[in-house]
Amino acid sequence: MSVKVRFAPSPTGKLHVGNVRTALVNWLFAKGQGGSFVLRIDDTDLVRSTKESEDNIEIDLKWLGLEWDERYNQSKRFDRYEAAADKLKASGHLYPCYETAEELDLRRKVQLSRGMPPIYDRASLNLTDEQKAAYEAEGRKPHWRFKLEGKRVSWEDLARGHAEVDTASMSDPVLIRADGLFLYTLPSVVDDIDMEITHIIRGEDHVTNTGAQIEIFEALGAKMPGFAHMPLLVGADGSALSKRLGSLAIMDMRADGYEPIAITSHLGKIGTSDNLEIAASMQELGEGFSFSKMGRSPARYDEADLGRLNAQALQVMPYEVAKPRLAELGVDLGEDFWNVVRPNLNFFKEVEGLAAIVNGPITPVIEDAAFAEAALKLLPEEIGADVWSVWTGAVKAETGAKGKGLFMPLRLALTGQAHGPDMGAIVPMIPRERLVARLKGETA
Ligand code: GLU
Repeated sequence: MSVKVRFAPSPTGKLHVGNVRTALVNWLFAKGQGGSFVLRIDDTDLVRSTKESEDNIEIDLKWLGLEWDERYNQSKRFDRYEAAADKLKASGHLYPCYETAEELDLRRKVQLSRGMPPIYDRASLNLTDEQKAAYEAEGRKPHWRFKLEGKRVSWEDLARGHAEVDTASMSDPVLIRADGLFLYTLPSVVDDIDMEITHIIRGEDHVTNTGAQIEIFEALGAKMPGFAHMPLLVGADGSALSKRLGSLAIMDMRADGYEPIAITSHLGKIGTSDNLEIAASMQELGEGFSFSKMGRSPARYDEADLGRLNAQALQVMPYEVAKPRLAELGVDLGEDFWNVVRPNLNFFKEVEGLAAIVNGPITPVIEDAAFAEAALKLLPEEIGADVWSVWTGAVKAETGAKGKGLFMPLRLALTGQAHGPDMGAIVPMIPRERLVARLKGETA
């Protein structure tokens, strides 16, 4: 059977690096073995879900290259959840509960004060039909809990190895709220069954859920998918990233100028034994992906690494790929120019500043006017490919300047900056009159 995975975001905010890593690992796992990737919008919460968030999720995923093969909205599938709930009610797995939130809260406090775990005591399971009728007559609407078997649920986790959850230590999960809202737990299982998901890949924070959901799969008589729970992301200093995730939105990173392949290379390789290097393509990233490379230790999300990968992505970007983007910025100065400046870029947009070295305007920095004047006199009439070595050779012979003392004043005069592209390669691209003007101290 071919692999089929799903990414199931709730459309209640922006996609951040944490969700995207989950999406990415699902995509890489599927594509690495010719499988398919499902986008499932978990929008059962009609109040908190927004169309805007849903649209943005699609925009972000497409931009990152995480195209989906199938797409669903949970909000269009309530009939399926009703049918599953009916089945679970009929088999006694789903039972009505009448406690109010205040009553449950009080009971938990009593349990805790007695040193007992705050697990739901199943009081509603023992209600007689008369008692239930009395509650209903009072106007109480039941919420519905799934009756856990209370056992050690185990599975072979692709990322964690042998995994176990003791459902005896958990409260029976509420699947349907008193107002009829289906919480995440049941729709997720129903969809995973209907959509024939072969592997559920998500963050480690879902391990406990998995214990309950495996029991629901069993209660619905379904074939069990495989599971993988990934270690969570931590920051560069090793601290949990969960609180900061909200500020690490993909749409903001796009606006900041990050390359999608830098983001996917970073998120696809952290927490694995792979070196943190830029991938040539998503295809290559998928072919190289394996859960066997993923350790149990958390994955370190480090902006400095991401920045380095972004620069790498630009260093290897072929001219054909850069060309339309250069044209859009109005700085397509040809393939030679691109090849000269790309090692100097941290972000693509910086190419605008480098194009000014060729096209102007540059405000020269001249600390020694006499030196600049001497250099100007020696500037060859013909600006050929070897102009830099010919010219600096002549300036050296005339002034005695050498090394940094020779090159730096010329770089500052011609580019206005202490750092930048290889002068030997960029100077031949600058029109002679512009070189002359800059050596005279004029902005040109
Ligand atoms: N909507 C859930 C979440 O974002 C999906 C979890 C899952 O993958 O099952 O946490």
